[in-house]
Amino acid sequence: MPYTVKVDRALCIGAASCVAVSANAFELDSEGKAVIKKKDGTTTSDPVSFSEINESEQVIEHAAKSCPVNAIIIVETDQQGNEIRQVYPS
Ligand code: SF4
Repeated sequence: MPYTVKVDRALCIGAASCVAVSANAFELDSEGKAVIKKKDGTTTSDPVSFSEINESEQVIEHAAKSCPVNAIIIVETDQQGNEIRQVYPS
């Protein structure tokens, strides 16, 4: 099943560990909060499918685990995009 990743902007403190792990997948926006970089060139903190990100699953998961406040959330969804389970933080 597909995985999606999102950033909880209320939790994010702009520590940028995620950017250090994967500048392909994350950057900080003008508010100093992490956003996810999509293959189409847009950015968002909302849920993004791993397939829309120019980074490996392993590295996206590593970036999530590097966040000191667990603001990067990975969920498994069904083909319709409905959440099945939270993968990280578990
Ligand atoms: S590592 Fe966490 S707190 Fe730091 S910028 Fe990324 S999401 Fe935000």
